[in-house]
Amino acid sequence: MVKKTTLCIRISDTGICPYCNTKNLIKNGFTKNKKQQFYCKSCNKRCIDYYSYNACKRNTNAKIIQFIKEGLGIRSIARVLQIATTTILKRIITIAKKIQNPIFFKNKSYEVDEMRCYLKRKDKPIWIVYAMERKTKRVVSFSLGRRTKRTIQYVTNSLLLSTPKAIYTDGLVHYKSLINKVIHRVTRYGTNKIERNNLSMRTHLKRLQRKTICFSRSYIQLQCVLCIYFWS
Ligand SMILES: [Zn+2]
Repeated sequence: MVKKTTLCIRISDTGICPYCNTKNLIKNGFTKNKKQQFYCKSCNKRCIDYYSYNACKRNTNAKIIQFIKEGLGIRSIARVLQIATTTILKRIITIAKKIQNPIFFKNKSYEVDEMRCYLKRKDKPIWIVYAMERKTKRVVSFSLGRRTKRTIQYVTNSLLLSTPKAIYTDGLVHYKSLINKVIHRVTRYGTNKIERNNLSMRTHLKRLQRKTICFSRSYIQLQCVLCIYFWS
């Protein structure tokens, strides 16, 4: 019989693994802070009774993801979770690296749009070019850079590989040379859904908000945050 665990019962008393709830724990040496460490033979994970550092706690990464999507900046997440800002920056990169790129389906309609934000300085704009599937509103691809052909090409090329039914864009000149006339649509209200999504992104991500002092300082962080926002 497995006893009901409460918050004040320690792992060393119950011998129950907090990850898989089995009783296969064995002792596995001591940590740097001289705490008994346990090793689970069924899920191969290690755990200790309680953590001195908040960053080591089990749900920290999940909370970071949640807070990013709720419009908190790096420093405010650090204040809420009581972790160092540098830890958050490192965690954002590790979380983003584990995320898999989305799968493309054939014969779908997409909307492509560019969104302006800032990088490093408030007078240095950078554009987020991204593509959204029309029906499911799922973001399938994005790229960062200046508003040039090269940045847009990355997104359109990834779309064209999946033989799309139609691609809706605004009237920007670069699209004409990149997308075949047959599937390219520039119509009124054609990019409504993605324009609305831009507004959602601006409310959900602190670094994209307008008329504030918030903006991205690092290219990699911006890329990782977008990756987390779109696909996790
Ligand atoms: Zn386990």
